[in-house]
Amino acid sequence: MSLGKILLYYKFTPIADPEAVRLWQRDLCESLGLRGRILVSRHGINGTVGGEITACKRYIKKTREYPGFKGMEFKWSEGGAEDFPRLSVKAREEIVAFGAPEELRVDERGVIGGGVHLKPHEVNELVENRGEEVVFFDGRNAMEAQIGRFKNAVVPDVRTTHDFIAELESGKYDALKDRPVVTYCTGGIRCEVLSALMRNRGFKEVYQIDGGIVRYGEAYGNKGLWEGSLYVFDRRMTMNFGIDPARLGRCVHCGEHTTSFRNCANEETCRRQVLICDSCWNGEDGGETIRYCGRKECAQGS
Ligand SMILES: [Zn+2]
Ligand SMILES: [Zn+2]
Repeated sequence: MSLGKILLYYKFTPIADPEAVRLWQRDLCESLGLRGRILVSRHGINGTVGGEITACKRYIKKTREYPGFKGMEFKWSEGGAEDFPRLSVKAREEIVAFGAPEELRVDERGVIGGGVHLKPHEVNELVENRGEEVVFFDGRNAMEAQIGRFKNAVVPDVRTTHDFIAELESGKYDALKDRPVVTYCTGGIRCEVLSALMRNRGFKEVYQIDGGIVRYGEAYGNKGLWEGSLYVFDRRMTMNFGIDPARLGRCVHCGEHTTSFRNCANEETCRRQVLICDSCWNGEDGGETIRYCGRKECAQGS
């Protein structure tokens, strides 16, 4: 049995017929035995697929044959097809759901009017040169920032990416419109869109980090401007960039340090992911099991 791998990738490029690309990608993945999730829209493609290493290599080669995907970067990660329940290839209005498909514009070079891309060392240079004037702006869901974020980052109050536009138009961040703002997210895709939405709303100097937190963390570990752990959307749940990261997350019930997100036991109307430590969740040390999010609306589950 050969070794498996996971590929992560995205590209913003005009796609005239997303449905045709969807069918081609589905057939390609099926023929190679790859599993995972791929979204295609008229703005581009966003995918995470896993399979045997030779199949992954072949997938990259074939996918890059499509003119719009020529030169697309693929990030390799540990894992394989078994990390995904099935293959899902969909055509949607957006590859990242900000609820702004008509506003986003792309050409062959990517998103039009997005923030300036900074490499990890350029992020540090910007902060060295401009000091406290620089603001880090979290482009993720607020929950993700509970366990890790850039130093002194602004964390917008959003539950999903859909909430960003209302948040940006609320006036709360108007004071940042004349300051250098560095947007960041896990792997960079959300900020491709977010930084353009911000510029469209009057933020004058907007940046985004090439490769997102992942690439910054790989470059600087725990010794740069990033603090804490990174929330990730696979079964690992969190990852760290070195031993002994800053411990920012705290259990909503007892206040102990933890990085364990759990779904509220009220699955009907809540399902919020909140930080609950092992002791509270499992009722260790003679305590009772607490499996709800802590809000009044949610009764204790079991
Ligand atoms: Zn606890
Ligand atoms: Zn709840």
